[in-house]
This record gives sequence, structure tokens and C-alpha cells, in this order.
Amino acid sequence: MKTPLRRKLRYGIFFASFLLFPWTLNWLSPYLSVHGAWTGVVTGSVLVFALLFLTAPFLGRSFCSWLCPAGFAQEAVAQTRTKKAGKPALWRVKWFVWTPWLAGLASGWVFAGLKAVIPEWTPAYPMQQDFLTSVGLGTVTATLVTAIFVVLALLFGRRGGCHTLCWLSPFLILGRKTGRALHIPGLKLESTPASCIACGRCTAACPMGIPVQTMARNGRMEHSECILCADCVDTCPKRTIRLSFGRQG
Ligand code: SF4
Ligand code: SF4
Repeated sequence: MKTPLRRKLRYGIFFASFLLFPWTLNWLSPYLSVHGAWTGVVTGSVLVFALLFLTAPFLGRSFCSWLCPAGFAQEAVAQTRTKKAGKPALWRVKWFVWTPWLAGLASGWVFAGLKAVIPEWTPAYPMQQDFLTSVGLGTVTATLVTAIFVVLALLFGRRGGCHTLCWLSPFLILGRKTGRALHIPGLKLESTPASCIACGRCTAACPMGIPVQTMARNGRMEHSECILCADCVDTCPKRTIRLSFGRQG
């Protein structure tokens, strides 16, 4: 089957983001954010987490399917291994990782105080080495982080790292839920149940293991694990599912 233009574009941007991971690593780091908090610093990564939360009402979890370097690595592994996505019980695991981590972050500012938002704040904190050292360290760390996500995908199925370890997805999920509660217009999936022939292709294509066929037949396409990759849209032979922008909730 011909690869749709949207998927080609997505993978092009996705791959570029993966190559840039050694440079962007610090802005996504769960470790540096906690380290910063306990020294009274608001790091660039904390600002990125906040940005993800604030953009999720409009863009959902598109970050996961278009920009996340670990997401790209897991998708690449899925091309060579056909292990299915993890079951719903797995989807809860990340919250048991995220909640204590967030508590650690908040505790840091409570105990250390917020003393370095300005002027000591720096987006790349604490990247104060020269350029080559920073990139060298970034490459080693990015490789290790990628390897962990790939191993989780091999153990728990497609996007296994997103379901079990990702510290970014809870921000996106909570931001999306907030957007829906406030009826903020956003990118979303819609379906026309009458045209569905129950072929199951959408469910098979979904990298997150979501029961897309059931949702399409019910006409309710919102799901907290949906990363809006549109693979179900591009796979459906009847154009039952589509991507649209509009009021939610
Ligand atoms: S439901 Fe569709 S858009 Fe959402 S993650 Fe699955 S394939 Fe992608
Ligand atoms: S791919 Fe389309 S027609 Fe097939 S089950 Fe999914 S929504 Fe229905």
C-alpha cells in the first residue's frame, strides 16, 4: 500500500527530532528538573512540561507522534518487530512513576525555595560546559534513554515505554482533559459509524493499542492514550475516521 503523504511528513519530522535529541535532551529531562528544583531553579525542562500541558487542549498528544525522540525510536523498532501494543492494564503504570516524581519536583521548590527563576534561570540548566562536551555528553545520555525506551517497547509491545515510563504523557493527558472540560476547540478524531465495515484495520494500525474499531462504531473517538498520529485515518478503507479541529467535550 502507498504510504500517505501525511505519514511521510510525520516520519520526516519525527526522524529530524530524533537526530536532534542530544541537543534537546536537557529540555525534556526529568532528572534535571528535579535537580534544579532542589537548588531552587526552574529549569528549561519544567517550562517545556508546562508548555505541553498548555498546548494539549489544542493539539492533544500530537507531540508524541510528531516530535518525541523516544516515540520515534519505539516506532522504528515496531517496523522490525510486530509485537502488539500493550494491554490497558499497562497504561496505568506511568502514573505510578509520574506521581512520585512530580511530588519530588514540588518538594524541591518547597524546601529550597524559588530563588533562581530570574536571573540564574537558564533553559539548558545545568549545561554549562563548552559546546563539544555538551553534545558529547548529550549523545551518550540520549543513546541510553533511547535504549531504555526501546527495551520497554520490546518487552511490553509497541510504544511500551510511553505506557510505562513516560513522564511527559501525564502532562499531555491532563492538559487534554482540562481542554475538554472547558470545551476548548482542538484537534480531534471523528467517525461516521454507518460507513464502518468492521474490518479491524484501524485497530491493527494503532500504535497505542487502542480499540479504534469499537470507538469508530460507537462514534466516540476521544481516548486518553490517543496520540493523534492519524494512522487509523490513513488506514481506513471507508474513510470512516477523520481528523478535524473543533469544539471538544
Ligand atoms: S486512535 Fe488513531 S490517531 Fe489515535 S493513536 Fe491510534 S491510530 Fe493514532
Ligand atoms: S478501518 Fe474503518 S471500516 Fe475498518 S473497522 Fe476501522 S473504522 Fe471501520
